[in-house]
Amino acid sequence: MPLSHGRPYLAIPGPSVMPDRVLRAMHRASPNIYAGELVEVTARVVADLRRVACTTGHVAIYMANGHGAWEASIANMFSRGDKALVLVTGRFGAQWSLHARAMGVETQEIDFGTASPADPARLEAALRADTRHEIRAVLVSHVDTATSVCNDIAAIRAAMDAAGHPALLAVDGVASLGCDPFHMDDWGVDVFVSASQKGLMVPPGLGFVWFSDKALEAGRKSDLRTPYWDWTARALPQMFYQHFGGTAPTHHLYGLSESLPMILDEEGLSATWDRHATLARAVWAAFDAWSQEGDIALNVPDPAYRAHCVTAVRIGDGGAGRLRQWCEEVAGVTLGIGLGMVPFGDPREGDFLRVAHMGHVNAHMTLGVLGVMEAGMQALRIPHGRGGIAAAAGALAVSAS
Ligand SMILES: *Cc1c(COP(=O)(O)O)cnc(C)c1O
Repeated sequence: MPLSHGRPYLAIPGPSVMPDRVLRAMHRASPNIYAGELVEVTARVVADLRRVACTTGHVAIYMANGHGAWEASIANMFSRGDKALVLVTGRFGAQWSLHARAMGVETQEIDFGTASPADPARLEAALRADTRHEIRAVLVSHVDTATSVCNDIAAIRAAMDAAGHPALLAVDGVASLGCDPFHMDDWGVDVFVSASQKGLMVPPGLGFVWFSDKALEAGRKSDLRTPYWDWTARALPQMFYQHFGGTAPTHHLYGLSESLPMILDEEGLSATWDRHATLARAVWAAFDAWSQEGDIALNVPDPAYRAHCVTAVRIGDGGAGRLRQWCEEVAGVTLGIGLGMVPFGDPREGDFLRVAHMGHVNAHMTLGVLGVMEAGMQALRIPHGRGGIAAAAGALAVSAS
């Protein structure tokens, strides 16, 4: 019997759940883009985008998704034939590298597998080996959404400093922004990339690139830039039209003008991070209990390197695929597919799934997803340990008391 009638819940790592008030803020007639309210709204949005990334640097807004923001960052950092060092901890890191290579950058990848963070010692060694300082930038995901590995960006910066290497540090925060703690300036990040549809709770359609003065200067010679992606004009106080390389993304700006204050002023950024950490711990607690029997495991063994916005798991013998289907069809919850854990087309693809807990999510939504998953495992007779829901409830109770 289907139990899915009612409000569906998309628990995939982007697009995330959108608050109704964000949608309402977007529901309006076309505003003038040359003067008036939208210009003021945008000034606030730009200021809040700096606050949410913890930076006083520049931010460029592109009408693009995260893939577009990747290319924007590459276009501004590199010239054809320049070298990039990419730290790969999952499919998203590999993909950023692929985009760079396709654009003419010579990429060197260090692959840390699918369950471990980037090792700063190996980065330091690679940079020390680059005695002629040919590597122009180090690229790394903060959270790689495929594996749910969260990299230690401060430690990566420290390794670069220890090697005395002048490369820029470029970080992909598409998944982590507004979910996992991130301090662009304090961590010495030069270029930071994100998008609208994950932690920021706005529909897909905007990509963001924050950049430091150092990156702006370093990029002045980059020959991969084309007029739309060039961030130079976007760093200057200027005419509104130029800031967006053309017509502004009017309605997305209204969406952001609603969602950013929810994070920054109503809940508070550190409370938002704490909420995500607590919800993540509830998910881990459930899986710790379920994994006591059968073939179930959290992907990242070390909690210190687990993302707070998404959790990748394995449920063997195709259990993950069957459970995803059950949760969607019977219970109205859509979970994320496994991504990049095995090659495309490998029969073991059905052994992985991801639970998103990013953005506009709270305790009852997270417990609801976990409860539905436990019901599904019972219905499908997927062997699992007992007490997952009690453990998750306990994790929430501890944090809230
Ligand atoms: C979602 C995501 C992307 C890609 O963003 P799109 O908007 O889907 O193009 C890139 N990097 C990370 C870490 C992501 O989570």
